[in-house]
Amino acid sequence: MSFGFHPISKAEQVRKVPVKQRKQHSKPELYRGRRIPMKSIRGRITRETYNKTIDMHGFECFFCGTTHSLECHHVVPKGYSRTISGRGVWRNLRFVCTKDHENSPNGVHGNPAMLKQLQEHHEQLYGPHYYKDVYDLFMEGLVENTSPEAYEAFMQEEERKAAFLRVDAEASEAAWF
Ligand SMILES: [Zn+2]
Ligand SMILES: [Zn+2]
Repeated sequence: MSFGFHPISKAEQVRKVPVKQRKQHSKPELYRGRRIPMKSIRGRITRETYNKTIDMHGFECFFCGTTHSLECHHVVPKGYSRTISGRGVWRNLRFVCTKDHENSPNGVHGNPAMLKQLQEHHEQLYGPHYYKDVYDLFMEGLVENTSPEAYEAFMQEEERKAAFLRVDAEASEAAWF
C-alpha cells in the first residue's frame, strides 16, 4: 500500500461526482391528512410497551416457562411478509428465552410450527388484529382517528369477541360427549 500522492484521473473524478440525490423517502407518510410514522419506528419496542408486556404476559418464556435469558419477541415479526408487519404493541409481544428465540429448527424464528402456535394463541386472546397498531387500523378504516383511546376501544371490543369465540369453541367441544 502506498501513501504517496496519486491524483485521480479526469475520468475518475467525473465518476466520483455524487449522483443527484433521489427524492427522500424519510418524509412521513400522510393518510387522510394524518401523519403516519415510518414502519421502522412502528416496530420498535418502547420501555412502556416492554413493561406492559411484562404486566400482561408475565416475565417468562412462552414455550418453556423459564425466567432466565429472556428476549422480547414480536409474535408477528416486523417484516413477516411483503404486506404484513407486526408492530411494537404489547398484544404483539411475548417473552421467549434465548434458546426458543433462535433462528433454527429449535426456535420460533426458524420453526414455523412454533411461530404458528404463538400466533394462534394471541389471535385467540385478542382477535385477528392483535399485531396491528392504530395506524394500521386507521388506514383499514377500522378506527375513526389515530388516538390511543380509539385504538384501545377497538382492541378491547376485539378481545370481548375473541372471548365469546373461545366460549363457543369450548361449548361445542363439550357437546361431543
Ligand atoms: Zn424457552
Ligand atoms: Zn423474535
